[in-house]
Amino acid sequence: MLRRNSHVIFRRALIADRQEDISHLHLFAARADASALRFYRRRKEYSSNFQGCATAMDGGGTIRVEAPLAAGEGDDRLVRLRSLEGSSATVTDRLAGLVAAVPGRLVFTTSFGIEDQLIAHFIFTGELPIEVATLDTGRLFPSTYKLWQETEERYGVRIRSWHPDASAVAAMVRDSGINGFYHSRDARLACCEVRKVAPLVRALAGAAGWVTGLRADQSGGRAGVSFAGWDAERGLVKLAPLFDWTRERVAAACAERDVPVNALHAQGFLSIGCEPCTRALKPGEPERAGRWWWEQDEAKECGLHVGPDGRLVRARAAA
Ligand code: SF4
Repeated sequence: MLRRNSHVIFRRALIADRQEDISHLHLFAARADASALRFYRRRKEYSSNFQGCATAMDGGGTIRVEAPLAAGEGDDRLVRLRSLEGSSATVTDRLAGLVAAVPGRLVFTTSFGIEDQLIAHFIFTGELPIEVATLDTGRLFPSTYKLWQETEERYGVRIRSWHPDASAVAAMVRDSGINGFYHSRDARLACCEVRKVAPLVRALAGAAGWVTGLRADQSGGRAGVSFAGWDAERGLVKLAPLFDWTRERVAAACAERDVPVNALHAQGFLSIGCEPCTRALKPGEPERAGRWWWEQDEAKECGLHVGPDGRLVRARAAA
């Protein structure tokens, strides 16, 4: 059944069908409609990987895309980055390695969490040519906005912000209410789609590389996160320079360098997202238990790092 926001359906219905010795990447979307097709055609503009590919929708509403497999696991860029996967490489080594290995626009998306603050510190102090951007959902904690300001003042920079489409937010609030995300998992994912995922698509438009603050020990769902990999959906190299760090190591590195961090961390908020969807941890709870706490699913994600099959996109190392 098609829903009003077919972009959401399209994204979740997308299936990457990799075959052995394939020369093409086939993407399909079932039960999509014309607006989803327009959405996908816009994505072609965002990703050089899909430029020049053929896009068509058959009478049954299935979108078929054939694109040259321009890059992927085994790609030279990933092979070069693999040498920085070992624990002896510093964060700066890893970020500089990305700059050297991946020509083109590189984007680091920060939510101002403690990992992101450490990565931003190394980018700003090292004057690395990596754009630092944030997704302002409009529902962040006041302390997060305060930290955003402090970070810009500390490093003398302006962090680029990406915002939800105002008409999409208005339609969602009209239909579901201002806090409709509490009513169902689908409503929550739809809100994350409008406020986070769609702005992320714009933030990464034309980017060749994407830096994130993911760590493998943040949750069971993130346990498979590794250093560098190919994000087939977005057509770029995805790097997690802190993939093998513990939270304690990140906190110690921030303290050592006097990196500004969110005051909420000291109040039991280890993972901080939107204010209505984040609570402080109770004793003994895992790091991300305070996110969407009313949902029972352990693998709770907002969609930023989730692939078309609904699973976490892991930054796999090159084969
Ligand atoms: S975390 Fe909550 S408020 Fe923020 S985008 Fe997702 S559902 Fe909406």
